[in-house]
Amino acid sequence: MARFGLFSNDVGIDLGTANTLIWQRGKGIVLNEPSIVSFDRSTKAIIAIGHEAQEMVGKTHRDIKTIRPLKDGVIADFEIAEGMLRAFIRKMSATWQPARRMVICVPSGITEVEKRAVRDSAEHAGAKEVHLIAEPMAAAIGVGLDVHEAMGNMVVDIGGGTTEIAVIALSGIVSDESIRIAGDELTTAIVNWFKRHHNILIGDRTAEIIKVNVGSAWPLEEELEIEVKGRDMVTGIPKSIIVSSEEIREALNENVTVIVEAVLNLLEKTPPELSADIYDRGIVLTGGGALLKGLDERLRRETSLPVHVADDPLTAVVRGTGKVLEDLTAYSSVLLKSKRY
Ligand code: ADP
Ligand code: MG
Repeated sequence: MARFGLFSNDVGIDLGTANTLIWQRGKGIVLNEPSIVSFDRSTKAIIAIGHEAQEMVGKTHRDIKTIRPLKDGVIADFEIAEGMLRAFIRKMSATWQPARRMVICVPSGITEVEKRAVRDSAEHAGAKEVHLIAEPMAAAIGVGLDVHEAMGNMVVDIGGGTTEIAVIALSGIVSDESIRIAGDELTTAIVNWFKRHHNILIGDRTAEIIKVNVGSAWPLEEELEIEVKGRDMVTGIPKSIIVSSEEIREALNENVTVIVEAVLNLLEKTPPELSADIYDRGIVLTGGGALLKGLDERLRRETSLPVHVADDPLTAVVRGTGKVLEDLTAYSSVLLKSKRY
């Protein structure tokens, strides 16, 4: 192998609570799979990852367990998360080259201990040089904002486990807020709604399909209907009902309100010069949650600011991480400083 080939396997990783995306230097996005692992309960050996593991959710027998190791934005199960990362990296590159540089994004509120854990996992997965970047910063770079200039930008990244809200200026995060209300909680709210209002038990995957297809945060131009199948909690027998998007909006409203309030809260804490910038430029929404119908309109009404949904919001963070990886010198100032041990 030629020496120049040494860093050709450099990668940027968005290790999200719901989805893991990998950017390979010079290539772009080479992997986009759910952050899910199935493993053997007794040996902890990994049986499947990503799409393959997702197929097994809710259908495994007692020896196999399926988990999302990152659930709330930080690594909940180190051993499994590390195994997943290693398996994803092996999957993307057939030719295993141990010397590699990795840029990994992490939630903005992460502690030193958690940073250390992410670094360790990356090193165990083969990284020789690890750089960390805060998720909202990566999202801002991914959507094309100039994060170096002396202008305030607000980014709201709504993922599976966390919503990260940040004001960015001069290559740094000026203020931020991270809450554990995001896509997963919206899905759970739908499950609970059907229990409480229809006496029907539905699975998480069904609830997610409902959310994605008819979920909304603001009245739709044309309201929708969906057939929902589940188990009647009284008779125990499978049952199907038709529900409207108005009803699902009501089911989601409490959590949507929490997200809106967190945005209003951070706006209140933002220094006035930056508020003026945000007044002109508005708010950018990224992450899968940005696709919730009418969320942009709801935020527009409640903040009276321009609100933009990023193009392809699910890949914004990894695209930003990729840009940083491709030009580490230009972006060195946005990397998280962390203590050397
Ligand atoms: P993470 O960064 O935490 O992995 P993502 O940015 O990949 O999360 O977003 C995943 C979340 O986005 C999931 O909760 C998923 O249900 C939600 N999501 C994806 N598409 C839509 C959609 N069209 N409407 C509402 N939510 C969506
Ligand atoms: Mg994310």
